[in-house]
Amino acid sequence: MTSRERVRALVKRFRQVYPNAHCELDFKNPLQLLIATILSAQCTDKRVNMVTPKLFKKYPTAAAFANSNPATLENEIRSTGFFRSKTKSIRAASAAIVSNYAGKVPQTMEDLTALPGVGRKTANVVLGNAFGKNVGIVVDTHVVRLANRLRLTTQSDPEKIEQDLMNLVPRTDWTLWSHWLIWHGRRRCFARKPDCSNCEVFALCPSGKIFLRTGEAREPEPGQIKSSRRIAVQTRARLPVLPVRASG
Ligand code: SF4
Repeated sequence: MTSRERVRALVKRFRQVYPNAHCELDFKNPLQLLIATILSAQCTDKRVNMVTPKLFKKYPTAAAFANSNPATLENEIRSTGFFRSKTKSIRAASAAIVSNYAGKVPQTMEDLTALPGVGRKTANVVLGNAFGKNVGIVVDTHVVRLANRLRLTTQSDPEKIEQDLMNLVPRTDWTLWSHWLIWHGRRRCFARKPDCSNCEVFALCPSGKIFLRTGEAREPEPGQIKSSRRIAVQTRARLPVLPVRASG
């Protein structure tokens, strides 16, 4: 099976497994998603979602964020970590949105990445989820790990990984593809102990069998192993230890 054929099968499978996959940051408009995405750097979506309701009520527009008191805003977002640099990014990006785009979040990759503190990943989140535009593929820590484990790239640089994925994944699924990998990374393909024995895409993943053999994968719960996977687990002790790829 070629990588492209495998991706087609993965798309079909992920669509069944995660029919409701979506951005897990709470937002009601593009500005809110932009701010939430800036806050989500090195922070969980859950924590960001705890901070944003009060924040969005107090600062309903880009002008309100641009004119915010830096020390006050720092305190309000402190629990998301890196609050000083995030405050700088939020205020500067909001000021640029007010002066260059009449207070509206721009809708192109070029304009978004020209905003202070906004990189390609943040721009992709906003374009895909607030504007419904498949311009690129969001590559976060989960996507880096899963793209490597699924052997869809050999790169570690997010922009190179994005290019490899864009060559393989149908464009209409670019936004969903990120959600699928992120959801799978959070629910099954954990960084330390991937749950390969229960994985819904085990048959399409070159790493799963190796992880089971080498003990890298999470031990299956009794009664949860099925057919060929049971054999793989049962014979694990007799198989040679293969090298495991570094995968984030
Ligand atoms: S088989 Fe294991 S390594 Fe592969 S995607 Fe599933 S959980 Fe991740």
